[in-house]
Formats: sequence, structure tokens, C-alpha cells
Amino acid sequence: MHIASVGVSKVCFLFSLSLCGLLLLLIPALQPKAHQVDLPQPRPQVKTSPNTLQNSTGRPARGASLTTVLNTNTEKLGAAIKAENGNDYRETYSEENSNTVSIPEGQDSIFPGFTSHDLLELKDIFIAVKTTRKYHKSRLELLIQTWISQAKEQTYIFTDGDDKELRIRTGANIINTNCSAAHTRQALCCKMSVEYDKFIESKKKWFCHVDDDNYVILPSLLRLLSSYHHSQDVYLGRPSLDHPIEAAERVKTDGLMSVKFWFATGGAGFCISRGLGLKMSPWASLGNFISTAEKIRLPDDCTIGYIIEALLEVTLIHTHLFHSHLENLQKLPTNNVLEQVTLSYGGYENRRNVVSIVAGFSLVEDPTRFKTVHCLLYPETDWCPKLKRRLKN
Ligand code: UDP
Ligand code: MN
Repeated sequence: MHIASVGVSKVCFLFSLSLCGLLLLLIPALQPKAHQVDLPQPRPQVKTSPNTLQNSTGRPARGASLTTVLNTNTEKLGAAIKAENGNDYRETYSEENSNTVSIPEGQDSIFPGFTSHDLLELKDIFIAVKTTRKYHKSRLELLIQTWISQAKEQTYIFTDGDDKELRIRTGANIINTNCSAAHTRQALCCKMSVEYDKFIESKKKWFCHVDDDNYVILPSLLRLLSSYHHSQDVYLGRPSLDHPIEAAERVKTDGLMSVKFWFATGGAGFCISRGLGLKMSPWASLGNFISTAEKIRLPDDCTIGYIIEALLEVTLIHTHLFHSHLENLQKLPTNNVLEQVTLSYGGYENRRNVVSIVAGFSLVEDPTRFKTVHCLLYPETDWCPKLKRRLKN
């Protein structure tokens, strides 16, 4: 009896042991699939001319298999976009979880409403430059003379004081925001709020913000943005920190919880797609940006990151193509300077923090190196020294 019960217990013990083993083996199979972050994937790269995106034939090959954008975020695109564009992009993404789609016969593109005739052009990008009255001469004039001259129609300069003379002489789009000229959070957020509203009003496909000490390399910007579709949720820029920022959550929870999020530093510039821009509206439009910034008590660029990453749960796409003077700009390899999207230069604190590029101008003639960069990009400019392009070849 006793021996028999020991035997039964043994059998039971061995049975439970094998059952546990079986369960352990089954655990991975039973687990739900890990949540995937829906980062927009770049579209296939095609060659760009300085002003237009085109591939060699001018259109994607019909029926060709393309590794391309399949951003499931697009499925969540709000009614606002649908209403604005009159297109439902969800139809595009019928092949779920696949990275390969074919352009159906009889259709011009994988994006309904996006045909080869819709290739991204410079005019589709709204470029906002933040400045202040005291920098019109010392900073802004250089930008107007260089890169803004190549993107006059779509570049808007947001300042805090009238300068009729500059407007008439240069024909630049100068917007007096009537925000305070102080370098305070409130004043800077006031400007960003006006930038956002003007972008929405402009109906343009992309919003890019830069400071008045940034050079924008327009062909690179066009190439980068052409990799995405403006209806995707796209937030592109460079973080200034190597970790997410933490703030008390006062929009959703009265400051009882903290939130961590990445933000693109304004001093290097950043871009936002129209699709995402429209979704930001409840916290960004018509003065709401100022109250959102007040709630989290953070500067303008952090507030943009907060709205996008913390409230809309869209991830910043980190790119090293944007540059501020917080970095050591001299370290940028000379051969790659013209491939970058934005450049900057050191302020009073470090005048020698400039990109190391030499062509035709001395450091006294061109302390920021912006003229040098400009003449390498646009050698036909009348004030450029007649030089062979040294960097490209
Ligand atoms: N700025 C401004 N109001 C001010 C001071 C600065 O709008 O009172 C703008 C300036 O024109 C620039 C940006 O804020 O576009 C950043 O200023 P700055 O480069 O002087 O500072 P940092 O890059 O060190 O933050
Ligand atoms: Mn700066």
C-alpha cells in the first residue's frame, strides 16, 4: 500500500514535470506578437533634380515590385486628412505586413492620388525661419543672399519687428508675428504658434523649421523628404540630447505623472509632414501651441516633440543630416558637407565652430562658411568666385 502510493506519487511527479516542460516549450508560441513601432519607412530612392523629384524614366515601372513605404500609421490617418485631400490612403495598404507591393495595372502609383505627376518639388515645402529684429542685419541678410534666394516663394521669415526696407530690397516673405522680441519661452512659442498656423494655411505638403543661423541645403532637403509621403506621420530631426527628455504630464494628467519623449532640436531644424501636422491641430493651432507649452513649461522645440511623441505617439525619426552649433561642426567630413540637410555656425561663444570647407573665400570674407557652401552648390551665382567644384569630383 505504502510502496504503491509512493509509486503513484512518483508517476504523478514525473507527469507534472513533463507537463511543465511542455508548457515552457509552448510559452513563446502562445505569447502575443510584440508591438511594433510604426516608423515610416523611406520610399525607394529616385534621383532628384535640384527642384523636382524624378526617376530616370520619370515614373515608376508599371507592375514592378518595389520595396516601399508601408506605414501602418497611415491606416490611422484622421478624417481631417481624408477630408482635406479627398483620398483614403488606407486603400493603398491592402497587403498587410508586407514590405513589397506591386503597382497595379492601370494605376500610375502605389499611392492612390499620388501619381508620377505629383513628384515632390521645392514649392511643396513650407520653410519657416525664426529670427528677431536685432538679427536682421547680422544673420538674416546672409541667408537671404544665399539659400533663401533659391527658395524665395516658399520660405517665410518669422520675426518680431517691421523691416520694410529689407522686405522691399530683397522681396523676402517677412512676417511680423508681433510676438515679444525677448528670448523667453513665451516669445519663442508665440513665434512657433504663428509658424504652425501659416503652414496649415499654406496647404503645403511639408513643414520645415530652421533658425536664422542655419543654412538649408535645398537639394538634400528635397531628396530626404522625397523618401517619405506627406500623408504619413513623419517627424524628422536631430535630438540635442542622447536620451529622451522627461516632463511632468500636465495635459493629460494634471502633472501627477511624468512623460518621456524625444524632441528634435530647433537649432538644427526639423520637418513635419502635413498628415502629422494636421493631427497636431488640437494642441498647436490658433494659440493652442502657447497653452500646451505653458502646461509643460518647456521651450518651443520640446513642445513640438511633446505633442508628437507623447500625445500623438508618433516616433521622431532621428537623422544626422541636420546640424546645430551645439555640435563640433569642424568634425563633419569635408566630402559630406554638401550632402547634409542643414548646417550652422558657432555664435559669439565659439566663432571657430564652422564646417571645414575651403573654396574661394577666406575665413575673414566668409566666417560662417555659408557663402563657400552656397558657391559650391550654385557656382553660377553672380557674386561667387569662378571656381571649379572641388568637393564633388
Ligand atoms: N531668437 C529670437 N528672439 C530672441 C533671440 C533669439 O527669436 O530674442 C531666435 C534667433 O533668431 C534664432 C533662435 O532664436 O533663430 C535661436 O537663437 P540663438 O541662435 O541666438 O540661440 P541658441 O541657438 O544658442 O539657442
Ligand atoms: Mn543658434
